[in-house]
Amino acid sequence: MLSPNLPSIDDDEGTRVPEGLPRVLDAHVHIFPGNIFSAIWAWFDENAWPIRYRLSASDVLAYLLSRGVSHVMALQYAHKPGISRMLNQHMVDRCREFPGRVTGMAAVFPGEENAKEILQEAFAHGLMGVKLHAHVQCFDMNAQEMDVIYDVCESEQKPILMHVGREPKSVAYRCDPYDLCSARKLEKVLRNYPKLRVCVPHLGFDEISIYRNLIEKYDTLWLDTTMMLADYFPLKDAIELKGYRADRIMYGSDFPNIPYAWDRELKRLRNSGLPQEDLEWILEKSAAHFFGFASVSQGT
Ligand SMILES: [Zn+2]
Repeated sequence: MLSPNLPSIDDDEGTRVPEGLPRVLDAHVHIFPGNIFSAIWAWFDENAWPIRYRLSASDVLAYLLSRGVSHVMALQYAHKPGISRMLNQHMVDRCREFPGRVTGMAAVFPGEENAKEILQEAFAHGLMGVKLHAHVQCFDMNAQEMDVIYDVCESEQKPILMHVGREPKSVAYRCDPYDLCSARKLEKVLRNYPKLRVCVPHLGFDEISIYRNLIEKYDTLWLDTTMMLADYFPLKDAIELKGYRADRIMYGSDFPNIPYAWDRELKRLRNSGLPQEDLEWILEKSAAHFFGFASVSQGT
């Protein structure tokens, strides 16, 4: 579990994607309307880590794209019922500012009224899947209220990115992720919805080795690397991407909600010694398959 007030790391940041990497799609970037961003920054200051990049949603996207990230997957989550439509409209508007360079995920609060219609509308407006966060939304992924979300996504062939690993957890959440989340429960979702594409962020932290085995077993499961390559959290075992199934691993930064340089994990990937082919999967192709576009736009 996280201790509150983790340190900020004052590491140098580059002005471009590190030299020598293939094209980079960032599969895990957060944007929110300004008032929600401010509330999140205040919460992180008090309960987690200092956020280094306090930018507006449009500036978050412009920041990464102007530094050579070719494509951004933008995520939001609804922390309460009744705000998903507003968040989804905000996402659609931000994506339109960067045609072809930003793809947005829809928000829905599990159990809220009209969840099905909210998602159908969001997909009709071009959003490409759903982002859920069990620690903030306090859902049990095996609860009945989840079925409508899984059903719509499966039938519309849209992926779900859901933070259902138990870490990084904070005592300040109103529920305990250790009660709600486990790889065993996630496996049940995969079995019940065999065509549903699911991504679990943070490599499934803290059940990292179990999730590593699950992607061998299920072609519908992806993991993202978000914050796990930064050498920031104290981990039992160092993350060793060699030997992972690279076509199910996607790079994500968690930008802008990070306490270190935006390119910290990219530099580490460049120095990882992974074969170029694996880097191409991790930095772009895995995400292109997960999100359902065969090829993504090329940045400059
Ligand atoms: Zn995140």
